[in-house]
Amino acid sequence: MKKRLLILGAPGAGKGTQARKICELLDIPTFSTGEMLRSQMKAGTELGKKAKELIDRGELVPDSVISSLVEAELQSPHYREGFLADGYPRNLEQAHFLDRVLKDMGTKLDAVINLDVRLEDVVGRLLKRAEIENRSDDTEPVIRRRLQVYQEQTEPLVRYYREAGLLINIDGNGSIDQVWDSIAAQLQ
Ligand code: ADP
Repeated sequence: MKKRLLILGAPGAGKGTQARKICELLDIPTFSTGEMLRSQMKAGTELGKKAKELIDRGELVPDSVISSLVEAELQSPHYREGFLADGYPRNLEQAHFLDRVLKDMGTKLDAVINLDVRLEDVVGRLLKRAEIENRSDDTEPVIRRRLQVYQEQTEPLVRYYREAGLLINIDGNGSIDQVWDSIAAQLQ
């Protein structure tokens, strides 16, 4: 059974929803750098304050900050039996770092799920979510910047993991249930 997974996809691709379903099916925890940063922000740490400034502008948090969070967290017994990383890695540097940490732990990724959506569609979805959730990183200019950062920095990971033979590409344009059926079929 595949138990060490990543999910990739543009902001607004529906990653969070599908990630929850995958974790439930495989009985594994999510590994989310976004959540780790939000808990730092909530606790009001220095790291959290600096992260908030960047996140509110749609920028990524520096790799060095993410790496220190990730390395400590991944060693926790919580993820020993597996995990689904959601929102991490976000660029090639982070992908290389993750490969190294897992290798040092004597393990490696089993598969990478890419939720493939039309970028024109996600702006609309994100604006709708912004209205509902009132997230400070969800105003239109910030959303556009996050999509640009995704295209420039994160999308190259699709090719990286394809070349590593790990990629499972999923058409993410359908309904939640349709997308879930495609993912579940690949995880059997
Ligand atoms: P999304 O809303 O796209 O699901 P997340 O909840 O994963 O995003 O993360 C929220 C924000 O936190 C991102 O827009 C980014 O600024 C920052 N962030 C999260 N994970 C990373 C990471 N691995 N590297 C750099 N920045 C990150």
